[in-house]
Parts: sequence; C-alpha cells; structure tokens
Amino acid sequence: MTLTIEGHDRTLKLVDFTNIWDNDFSVTRQYWVQGSELVKPDLVCLVNGIPLVAFEAKQRAQQNSDWMKGVRDLSLYETKVPRLWASNLFAVACNGRAARYGVPGASSQQFAEWRDLSVHATPGNPLATPTPDFCTVAPIYVRAQWKRWGSCSAHKNISLNWRLIEAPKHVIDYVILHEMLHTRLMTHDHRFWAHLRSICPQASQAREWLEWNRPE
Ligand SMILES: [Zn+2]
Repeated sequence: MTLTIEGHDRTLKLVDFTNIWDNDFSVTRQYWVQGSELVKPDLVCLVNGIPLVAFEAKQRAQQNSDWMKGVRDLSLYETKVPRLWASNLFAVACNGRAARYGVPGASSQQFAEWRDLSVHATPGNPLATPTPDFCTVAPIYVRAQWKRWGSCSAHKNISLNWRLIEAPKHVIDYVILHEMLHTRLMTHDHRFWAHLRSICPQASQAREWLEWNRPE
C-alpha cells in the first residue's frame, strides 16, 4: 500500500512475499475485537498482526450439522464488527469432524468442505490411499499439548499438537502415521519401528526435526 508521509509517497509492504519466513505468523485463541459489540472468534490466524483467517469451532453434535451454527456466528460478527473482515481471506466453521470454509456472511450452502488435496499428490504416501485394515481411528483432536507432538489413547483417540502446522509436510505425515500405528501397536518395540519405517520412508529425518523442535 502507498502512504503519503510529509508530501512523499512511500510504499509500505505489509507482507514479505519474497522471504516468506521473515513474516510473523500467529494463531490466537479467543481473539477479542470490539465493534458495536465485543466478539471473540475461537481461533484467528494472523500474518504480521493482520487477521486473515477466522475459525468458529463448535462441539460435535449427533447430527453433525452444528458447524452451521459456526457459519451463523461468523455472519453475526460481520454485522457487529465489519472491520474484522476488512483483511479476511476466508473463515472456517468446524466441529471436530467436519470443517467448512467460506466467506463470512455467505450461507452454509456456500461453505465448502475442507480437503487437503496435497496428500493425494504425494506418491506412495499411505495417507493418500489408506487400506481398510490400516487402523480404526476414533475422533482426532487438535490440542495445545505440552511437550508432546501427538498421542494415542487406549481408546484410540488421537491428539495432535496444533503447533504441527509450522512443521514441514513430511514431519506432519510422520506424526500422523506414528499415532495411527499406535492404534494397532501400542508399544515402541522393534515391530512398531520396522512397520513405521516401511510406511514412512522419511521417518528418521522427521524424528530428528521433532527432536530439535520440541514443543514447550
Ligand atoms: Zn509413540
């Protein structure tokens, strides 16, 4: 954008598209914005302090349709705090199982299902073509875990640390495959590691990255 300072036009770069990692990326919980009323989207993703993506997360109900309440909330925010959406790219309404994205103010029919198509683009990735007997997974939770990247409970509930969004793709794949494999083999014995290496060729590089980047 261009600003006129003391009679001179100055170009201000809000985002560095050349050196992407020189930008500041943050994800906040309960982002408070005061408009005609105070609103608090559940999660907001910001680049250099500019809010770009907002999430409304709802408890999962039996009909699996409660994400629509998220869509309605996002629409309400638009009327109460229009400036929150001035820099918005899109918004996400989710419920722990379904995630839909769209433009705040649009109807729920215009919110599309979120899919990570990049998984299918990686040849040989077992996440792209899971065999039916690979594992049975109960709900997957994304949490702010302390000192853990992921975990799998005896009830096959998998939890992933939200900080994984900053990890390279092969590391994210590794953590998911590691926890999915725990649904079949709970202990870290030689069978577990051998199986994991066979489905995740970059396992040792991923483990090294995780060791150097422990969550605090
Ligand atoms: Zn493990």
